[in-house]
Amino acid sequence: MKGKGNYTRGLISRCTNYKDSDIIFTLLSENDGIQNFIARGAKKPTSKLSGHIEPINFVEIYYTSKSDLPAVSQVQSINSFMKIKSKYNLLIRSQYLVELSEKFFSDDANNNSQLKILTETIDQLSKTEHPDLVIMVYEFELLKSYGFGLRIFECLNCSKSLKKSSNYFSYTNGGFYCESCLGNTHSNEELVKFSIEDQIIFRSIERKKYDEILSLDINDLSIKKLSEMLKKSISNVLGVQLKTSRFL
Ligand SMILES: [Zn+2]
Repeated sequence: MKGKGNYTRGLISRCTNYKDSDIIFTLLSENDGIQNFIARGAKKPTSKLSGHIEPINFVEIYYTSKSDLPAVSQVQSINSFMKIKSKYNLLIRSQYLVELSEKFFSDDANNNSQLKILTETIDQLSKTEHPDLVIMVYEFELLKSYGFGLRIFECLNCSKSLKKSSNYFSYTNGGFYCESCLGNTHSNEELVKFSIEDQIIFRSIERKKYDEILSLDINDLSIKKLSEMLKKSISNVLGVQLKTSRFL
């Protein structure tokens, strides 16, 4: 693509109609953080911008100014994730992943490696029989990469290796307690018991043995329980519940 001005690439996370025919959109860019742009006239059917500007489109764009809201002169879709958008249950899951990522990504720095993982994860959703498992791996790794990793193998209190048995997870502190330390927890800590089968999934994610997880006989119930646990841990870290998580 040829054009004048500044160039960037990224994933569109949100679009808002503005005035009669303009669209303001947010881009999770590869190298310049999270940026807002205005696409003037983009809602007109004759506009060369129309069709390229919608949420969950990976695009390359040219823009003319370096103001707070630069106007785009060219937009080209690189990946529109059509397979995802044709299935409602995958679309809402992708929207959740994008909303989640936007909360963690840096506003003004390079998000390139995280963005790559995000787009690969969205792609994976259309190729798996367990989309919720794919989401769990993403959530788990995202927490870890921003320094909020869950403690899966050692007790939060005494740091001894956890026994392969039922253990109690603390939402407040993002990890498990061994049996002997249960008495040392704070009275306001919310604890939930996880069976060894539940913990096996997290242990496999932590060891990056993803093939092993897919070969496990995972029932929907335990995915649901683990998925809720991760979402609760995430909202503890962020201090808010994500809007899109309610639809999953
Ligand atoms: Zn302990």
